Amino acid sequence: MKIGFIGTGAMGQPMVANLVKNGFSVVAHDIVPAALAAAVSHGATAVGSAAEAAKASEIVITMLPSSSHVVRAYLAEGGVLEGVASGRLCVDMSTVEPGTSRLVAETARRRGVRFMDAPVSGGVPGATAATLAIMVGGEAADLEEARSVLAALGKNIIHVGPVGSGEVAKLCNNLVAGVAMVAVSEAFRIAEAFGLPARVLTDVIAKSSGNTWAMEHNHPVPGLVDTAASNRGYAPGFTTDLMAKDLGLAVNAAREQRVPVVVAPAAQQILRLASSHGYGRKDFSSVYAFMKPSSGEAPV
Ligand code: NAD
Repeated sequence: MKIGFIGTGAMGQPMVANLVKNGFSVVAHDIVPAALAAAVSHGATAVGSAAEAAKASEIVITMLPSSSHVVRAYLAEGGVLEGVASGRLCVDMSTVEPGTSRLVAETARRRGVRFMDAPVSGGVPGATAATLAIMVGGEAADLEEARSVLAALGKNIIHVGPVGSGEVAKLCNNLVAGVAMVAVSEAFRIAEAFGLPARVLTDVIAKSSGNTWAMEHNHPVPGLVDTAASNRGYAPGFTTDLMAKDLGLAVNAAREQRVPVVVAPAAQQILRLASSHGYGRKDFSSVYAFMKPSSGEAPV
């Protein structure tokens, strides 16, 4: 089967590699020449526009940074909807506003094209190992058509509901993951200030009600969990900027539905602050490194 793949960045590259490994033929497009060249090195054929990639393929996959990029890649001149044949299926795996998925789906539908949102969790390691969790919003029959393609990219494929609901699930998951990382970082900074060894507190929390994925798998304090980004100088992983973006999407979604939210905006702000102090491209667990206690001395 021929797959059009648009957006061959940090996530797109290993995903393209896995599609090729599984026998799919991939026609790729990215606006950054180096990103596209990397896809070619994994066995894809390069084309000059999203429309060309869509025209040449049976299923289109997009993996783009944010909502505005998705709108542009589908709806602008030279975009997917210009090239894709009527009746085909497009799968957007980016993390974007649920409303963006619905807008693109509706515009596609008017041209006889089907659309699903299928954002992922698992980051670059999950994309590389083809173990991503994939949260699908769309028609069950469309998911079945794409299932063999998605199975080459991830392990847990969950049909959440209609178009846009995969994104809602993704935002809710990342709200929990982002807030938990900030909470774990705060707890370990407080304990440290009182002289508690981080390993002892880890043992306590691991056996208590505060246990969480953030601490078990991506401990922000270096030297405690082998897999943690903190042991690699906070090399991502999942960047502070991306987590701040996702918390922002969660906050917007909450406001749209008039759901009161307090901890998500607070966590977003501290991640944004960490980003403005140089932690943006580091793993989001580096928020712990950013949260150094003040020296207590008066400012000069
Ligand atoms: P990235 O910035 O590394 O890659 C995105 C690529 O899209 C870039 O190469 C960019 O040049 C390209 N692009 C932008 N606009 C384009 C257009 N109009 N046409 C063609 N190409 C275009 O981002 P990423 O880390 O690969 O993330 C992609 C998506 O996956 C994001 O929505 C992100 O939130 C989500 N995600 C990322 C991770 C992660 O760990 N990186 C984990 C889960 C989900």
